[in-house]
Amino acid sequence: MQESIQPKFHITTATCACGNTFEAGSVKENLRVEICSNCHPFYTGKQKFLDAGGRVDKFKKKYGI
Ligand SMILES: [Zn+2]
Repeated sequence: MQESIQPKFHITTATCACGNTFEAGSVKENLRVEICSNCHPFYTGKQKFLDAGGRVDKFKKKYGI
């Protein structure tokens, strides 16, 4: 009898600021997040992916890779 008033919860593709995509449960579609398990210091033990990416680019330019 009682209809659910909760929004539909479904699996969608979440895109992180680091470029990583992963599936996540959300009420929204095309979820965007600023941090994920791929770049979060808690998971990686490193600094943010974006910072690391900038350094890698400089490193590559410097050494002509
Ligand atoms: Zn990320």
